[in-house]
Amino acid sequence: MSTKEGAHLSGRRKVNTAPEVLLRRAVHAAGGRFRLHRRIAKGCTPDFVMPSSHVAVFVDGCFWHGCPEHGRKTAWTGPNADLWTEKMRRNAERDERASRLAQLHGWSVLRVWECEVRQDSAAVATRVMREVRSASTGTGRDVSTP
Ligand SMILES: [Zn+2]
Repeated sequence: MSTKEGAHLSGRRKVNTAPEVLLRRAVHAAGGRFRLHRRIAKGCTPDFVMPSSHVAVFVDGCFWHGCPEHGRKTAWTGPNADLWTEKMRRNAERDERASRLAQLHGWSVLRVWECEVRQDSAAVATRVMREVRSASTGTGRDVSTP
C-alpha cells in the first residue's frame, strides 16, 4: 500500500506543469502559434503568448492562485498562519499586477485555471483561439455575431 501511495504522490508532483503542457498541446492542435515564457514587461512573464495577436495566457494553479473551487476557503490557522496569508496575498497581488502590466503593453490577457485545462484542454484552447481572433480584428468583438 505504501508503494501505491508513493507512486500516487510522485505522480502528482510530476504533473506540476501538466496543465501548461496540456493547454499548449491543445492550442497547437487548434493551429495556434505561441512563444513560451516570454517576458513582455518587467515582472510579467505569461506562461505563453500568441505574438501575432498579442494575447497573453496565464495558467493559474488552483491552490496557490486561489481558484474559487479548489483554493483555500477558510482562513489559515497555526503558527505560520500569517506567513501563509501574506504569501497568498502577494500571489494575488502579483497576478493582478502582471495582468495590468500586460494590458498596459498592449496585450490581451487570458487567465485560466489549471482545473479547467485538466477538465477540457480543447475547450480552453478554443477560448484562447477565440481571443486570438477577436484580438486580431482589433475590435475586441466577435465579428460573426449577426
Ligand atoms: Zn480549480
